[in-house]
Amino acid sequence: MRPLTIACSALTVLVAACSGPQPQDAATSTGADAADAAPPQELVVYTSRNEQLVKPLFDRYTKETGVKITYLTDKAPPLMERLRAEGSRTPADVFITVDAGNLWQATNLGLLQPLDSPVLQANIPENLRDPENRWFGLSVRARTLVHNPAVTPAASLSTYEDLADPKWRGKLCLRTSASVYNQSLVATMIARLGAERTEQIVQGWVENLAAPPFANDTAVIEAVAAGRCAVGIVNSYYLGRALRDDPALPVTVFWANQGTDGADASGVHVDVSGAGVTTHADNVAGARAFIEWLSAGEAQGLYANENLEYPANPQVAAAPIVQAWGEYRQNLINVTESGKLQAEAVKLMDRAGYR
Ligand code: FE
Repeated sequence: MRPLTIACSALTVLVAACSGPQPQDAATSTGADAADAAPPQELVVYTSRNEQLVKPLFDRYTKETGVKITYLTDKAPPLMERLRAEGSRTPADVFITVDAGNLWQATNLGLLQPLDSPVLQANIPENLRDPENRWFGLSVRARTLVHNPAVTPAASLSTYEDLADPKWRGKLCLRTSASVYNQSLVATMIARLGAERTEQIVQGWVENLAAPPFANDTAVIEAVAAGRCAVGIVNSYYLGRALRDDPALPVTVFWANQGTDGADASGVHVDVSGAGVTTHADNVAGARAFIEWLSAGEAQGLYANENLEYPANPQVAAAPIVQAWGEYRQNLINVTESGKLQAEAVKLMDRAGYR
């Protein structure tokens, strides 16, 4: 266990050496120093999740356990680059980010270590964690269809693949292919349908666009609400947020690929946000205990429901606004596949003219 002051000074040195955001203390400093008989436990977290989401959780953990959490927020790529550059000198014990593609990349760069945790094995379904236990999904993000039921009846919708059909010409709204969410969606389509079939579908989507691809999911939802397109593909939490702001918004989710057989039955594409213990963590036991805490009970609910995602732990309830959309079957392909196939997905979308 490393005394608090050593970690803080290491961080200070790093911050002085690197440009970028400053690590911040989640809890009020205790004023303890290395001379104390029992230095307080401490954890350092690097996270691409926004501060508004994670700080209340860090504060709560500190209150419950006395473990002080120092954290640094930034986008996933610079955090991974930082972990790589810091190597064995990194102060970070835990890495938290979104998207299986990022988590896969972190393992690919050797930044995360396998975690032997029966608790996490029990709390997190197999398709939502790394097969080698280097990261565990903490929330589920469902990417599915959205529509205005008064304009586009649910009975006319079925699958992601069906949106390539000419009957949707001039009626589809998509976010750009630069979005990692679309890259992951197309990657899992390659895994289940093959590259050739997937490319045909993506070409069909492009031919069916009602407007040039939008910069974000919220703009897709607004376009559907405005009647600019009949159907769009978004992460459901963006609709949750839009409905939280305006409960009268005439847009709802349609759960894709819920049929009874074949590709129609493959289930909704899901991705995760997740966490792992860094390869060079000083406090492995503390990092494991923290991720276990996040995977269960009230913490799991707070973590997932604040952003209107789905808890990864099936024992924990989703937020009411999210529950109102009803149950759906997930695509059970391990989310790691979307990481592995992401580069191929990017090339495929480019060939298909999806910008
Ligand atoms: Fe998002």
